[in-house]
Parts: sequence; structure tokens; C-alpha cells
Amino acid sequence: MLPPMPGLIERYRDHLPFEPGDPVVSLGEGSTPLVYAPRLSDRVGADVWLKIEGTNPTGSFKDRGMTCAVSAAVREGAEAVVCASTGNTAASAAAYAARAGLRGAVIVPEGKIATGKLAQALMHGARVIALRGNFDEALKLVRALAARHPVSLVNSVNEFRIQGQKTAAFELVEQLGGELDALCIPVGNAGNITAYWRGFNEAGHRPRMLGFQAAGAAPLVLGAPVANPETVASAIRIGNPARWEEAMDAMTSSGGAVNAVSDDQILDAYRFLAASEGVFCEPASAASVAGLLSHGSRGAARVVCVLTGHGLKDPQTALDHAGAVVPCDPELGAIERAVLR
Ligand SMILES: *Cc1c(COP(=O)(O)O)cnc(C)c1O
Repeated sequence: MLPPMPGLIERYRDHLPFEPGDPVVSLGEGSTPLVYAPRLSDRVGADVWLKIEGTNPTGSFKDRGMTCAVSAAVREGAEAVVCASTGNTAASAAAYAARAGLRGAVIVPEGKIATGKLAQALMHGARVIALRGNFDEALKLVRALAARHPVSLVNSVNEFRIQGQKTAAFELVEQLGGELDALCIPVGNAGNITAYWRGFNEAGHRPRMLGFQAAGAAPLVLGAPVANPETVASAIRIGNPARWEEAMDAMTSSGGAVNAVSDDQILDAYRFLAASEGVFCEPASAASVAGLLSHGSRGAARVVCVLTGHGLKDPQTALDHAGAVVPCDPELGAIERAVLR
């Protein structure tokens, strides 16, 4: 039998703030596939790869940060972990809290989270609190809560989240032998772009960081917070990113940029990836590809698009924007017409 693939902390311990003997809460996260995208490459006129973060244990990149944040919470003797979430942080925090035997509480905007993510958080036994407010309000409240009580805040304001997530940059440098000119990435609370930039700097490679926000939730593009962010890409429906300055620094010092993409562009890229590359990601993830398609590779020859979460997270958006099911009577003639037409 092959030895199991180690989780991130074991794999990159030399680059992470964990000593041998520290508690490690892992579900075998990281080591995600990098898949070449031939049709997308044709359209863009560059070599494009997809970093498939949806293959992490709970289906999003949040697991990279969560293994570190929850391991540190156990080391500190926290009684519970809490977060505000547009969905994936909640699913990931709930899973890692269950694994660690800690209580988990997640605050989500009421009615605004994708079905799969809600199912995960509930199944993992977290207390799921539906806030009559948006993500930005939820984050403000959990920060205040964590300042008063012995609970560990596992949003990306937590330094351990950034530490864990930077390992995706290490993997890209390994997978592409250091030959990478630009990284396209969706930006919500701006933790992930901050983490990649940190990782690339530590690895000694500095590709252009091309960040993309949904047009209805694009504070970094507008240069001011957005009071009521709106987009089909619920994972990046954020109006006041916590890592604002660091994200802007990553884009400026790498010679990159931040741009907006419309919901229609996001949905087009979402369907294109599924139908033409065989890769099903969630809408927020498709913002990276929508951005590359609409803004170009800016001279980069080798580009990676980060697909942050799995398409199965949000089955309703998929069903709303995909083709219809074909009904059929149980007879050969009917089947022939249905299949071969
Ligand atoms: C959290 C998340 C993002 C945004 O990441 P930030 O670190 O908040 O910028 C993008 N896509 C998906 C699927 C996410 O879950």
C-alpha cells in the first residue's frame, strides 16, 4: 500500500509556525491537482492551468487555512471556534472543529449561503446562526465576540489561515517548476490573494497577481467599501475586505491589477469550464477565468487560474443556468429520439 499523502502541516512544517509534537488537526488537505486547460488556453492565447482547490476535503481552499487555524486553536486550549462566513469557511471550520472535538459556531448571512455549504456545516454539528445582515456585519460581530470570550476566531483575519493558504503557492512553484507568469484569483475578503503572495515571495517567485471581484461587490476596484454587495458568486459577496491593504500591495508590487467581472461573464466562464474543460467549479471560482477571458493575460505566457471551490457546493445555481432534463417514455423509439436527436 502507498503511504497516505500527508496534510499540509506535515508536508510544509519547515515553512509553518508549528513545532514537531504540536497538535495537528488534518483531513489530508492540499496537494490539489493542477490541470492544463487546452480550450481556455486557445481562447486566451497563453498556456493556462487550473488549480483545482475544490478537491480539498470539504471542497474549497479554506481547508488549507483551517488545518492551521484549528491546530493552533487546540494548542492554545480554545473551547470553540467561531467564524463569519459566506459559506465555505463555515463548512471548513465545522469539519475541522468536529475532527478536533471542539465546538463550532458559524455566522452566515440569512438565506444567502449555497445549499451544499449549509448542509456541510449542519452535518458536521456546528451551530449555524443565520444573521439578518450581510457578511461584513457578521465579521464585525464575531470579532467582538472573540475579543470577549475564550473562542478562537478562524476567519482569514487569523494569521494561521494565511500561513496555511500560502502553501498553495508552494505547490504551484513545484508543479510548474517555477515557470509561472501570472496568477488569476477571485478576491472576496482578500485573505487568499494575500496568502498566495506571501507564499510566492517565500518561494522566491513573483508572478503577476491578477485579482478579480464581482462587479456588484468590487470595493477594491472602486476604492471604497460597498454597503450592499450583490452577485451570483456568493463566496465573494463582500463589501469591505479585511485584508484590503495587503491585497492591494500584492497586486501593485507584482505588477498585477484588480478588475471587476460582471455576473454574466462569471456565469459564462462557469458554464465554459464545465462544458468545455470538464471542470465544475462554483461561480465565485469562475471569476478568475472570467477575468482572464475579459481582461487578457497582460503578456503572460504561462497562467494559473485558481478554482477556489467545487461546483457541487452550489447545485441550485448550476440547475438555474444549465440545460433542461429531457423527459422520455419507456420505449425504444422514444429513447432513440431522445438520445440521438
Ligand atoms: C472564500 C472564497 C473566495 C474568496 O477568498 P478570500 O480569501 O475571501 O478573498 C473565493 N472563492 C471561494 C469559493 C471561496 O470560498
